[in-house]
Amino acid sequence: MSTHSHHAADLLAAALAAAGRGWPVFPLHPGTKRPALHGHARCPGTGPCAGAGGHLGWEQRATTDPDRIRTAWTTGPAFNLGLATGPAGLVVIDCDTHHDPAEPPPVEWAGAGGGLGVLRRLSDQAGALPATFTVATPSGGTHFYYRAPAGVELRNTAGLLGWKIDTRAHGGYVVAARSTTPAGSYTITDAREPVELPGWLFARLRPPPPPAMPAGPIRTGTGRRARYLDAALRAETARVHDAPASQRNACLYVAAVALGQLVAGGSLAELEARAVLASAAARHLAIRAYSPRQAEQTITSGLRAGAKRPRRIEDAA
Ligand SMILES: [Zn+2]
Repeated sequence: MSTHSHHAADLLAAALAAAGRGWPVFPLHPGTKRPALHGHARCPGTGPCAGAGGHLGWEQRATTDPDRIRTAWTTGPAFNLGLATGPAGLVVIDCDTHHDPAEPPPVEWAGAGGGLGVLRRLSDQAGALPATFTVATPSGGTHFYYRAPAGVELRNTAGLLGWKIDTRAHGGYVVAARSTTPAGSYTITDAREPVELPGWLFARLRPPPPPAMPAGPIRTGTGRRARYLDAALRAETARVHDAPASQRNACLYVAAVALGQLVAGGSLAELEARAVLASAAARHLAIRAYSPRQAEQTITSGLRAGAKRPRRIEDAA
């Protein structure tokens, strides 16, 4: 048996083992982390996409069907294994290592070493980190597999929990054990069944509820419109500026939703809302609690959510 076919057989066995745990898998290009399925832009409209009447992404095509898995991994090359975390009912905490000496950690994580150290510190402050199914990555990272809580759709996050920690849930995938890259292979280091995501991690990952604000127009006295708007801008600025460490992103989101309602109601220009939110977040950006890109994404999604419930400031008749 050649090395190649041995490796392919190994990957087939790993794919079937993952499927046996109820985790849908799909092929990644051999030796890489990239999906081997065509993307939306290059959909030929044939095969499974034709049957579905439209393009199917990797999340929809990931499967636990042993026959389909056997076909893919015996007729194709030695595909790496993508595991679709959302349909698998998993939340995977992805702790990366610190590679680049030119990129020092943010001051609050100095000395943590990398994502694993940050996660341990968070756990010391907030709650236990129970042993669970764990995979070591070839670059020295760690993937902790947790069962997702029922009834809430958690999405991927990047750096939300802390420096060098991403999470993969709905809309995401992880490279599963036995896959290889030029750096080495993904290896199971704890094979027990995943345990439920600890409550303190869930609290940090769950999407913030929309702010409880009345949906109708805001009535103010004649000439008070500008004053009301100023007060709203001050309040949302303070909310973002004074956010406690664990709530920074959530508070920015809530403030963006509130201002997004006023933008949609025509009382505030979107550019002004963005400028106010960005300057309120400057203090958190300064200590690199989140990146400008993360702040931008949070502001954009908050404004979008607020736009669904426009609020108008009207001078009273
Ligand atoms: Zn397609």
